Amino acid sequence: LIIISGFPCSGKSTRAAQLRDYFLSRGKSVHLISLPVDRDRVFASAAPEKSHRAAEFSAIKRALSKDAVVIVDGLNYIKGFRYQLFCEAKSCGTHHCVVHVAAPKEKCVEWNEKRRERNEYVGKDDEEPYDPEILDNLIFRYEEPNPMARWDSPCYVVPWFDEKILQLEEMYKTLFETKTAVKVNKSTAPKPVIEGDYLYELDKVTQDVVGLIMEHQRNSGGGGGTVPVKDCEVTLELPDRQLSLPQLQRLRRQFIQLNRTHQIARKRIRELFVEYINENLQL
Ligand code: ADP
Ligand code: MG
Repeated sequence: LIIISGFPCSGKSTRAAQLRDYFLSRGKSVHLISLPVDRDRVFASAAPEKSHRAAEFSAIKRALSKDAVVIVDGLNYIKGFRYQLFCEAKSCGTHHCVVHVAAPKEKCVEWNEKRRERNEYVGKDDEEPYDPEILDNLIFRYEEPNPMARWDSPCYVVPWFDEKILQLEEMYKTLFETKTAVKVNKSTAPKPVIEGDYLYELDKVTQDVVGLIMEHQRNSGGGGGTVPVKDCEVTLELPDRQLSLPQLQRLRRQFIQLNRTHQIARKRIRELFVEYINENLQL
């Protein structure tokens, strides 16, 4: 799975085509996922954007396999969405990487303007320009890949001034020659049915962990440090700063949102939430 991410009109589709050509030349079968999108409508409000992402997600899910290369050509600007894709690759037992197509805002605006002036379709790979306001807004909302996060790693940055992608061999090795098999753990292996009280459990366990952090901060005068969690193999690693309840509740809600539709084995909820907190607080 190759997740492309970048500003609107930064050259993502151009790079996606280069990636496709390369992997085809290496004898791989390639699925280029690039859903048509009426940008000025879809990215103007939350609801259509959400259903666009859902459609994208299921197309990716269908295409994923251990042998084929699936290239996701899209903005992929939401950290949580990239996390979901990462989990999906993992549960399929296949490797993933992120390609960050990097161009400064001014370039994206310039290329978008040119496209607006041309205002023409150049074959099926080409797309309509963005409304300048929507382009601006998408750049503002963009959540840059963070190579420190598991789901954004490895991350290959492809700058706009490189004519070719220089890390193609490396990517090939990551995807096809990584020795360690992808660990399909209980958390990401898909479960057919969501048990009735799963959401309740998800809510309660994460609430307990948040409570534990608040209690630790009260008792230690706000300090960070490591906090053992009962019945949990992972230890909380808190940064040296006071964490507020709203901040922790936000992480908790994100975690619940990400995990409500694919069931985690009960025992693992606590562990995964602690991991999620550890990773997100280091960022
Ligand atoms: P995206 O898929 O991110 O919207 P595209 O690949 O469709 O971006 O490219 C948007 C426009 O910018 C196209 O007209 C393309 O020719 C131009 N463009 C993209 N990358 C570059 C680059 N590195 N240098 C010059 N022009 C570029
Ligand atoms: Mg594109």
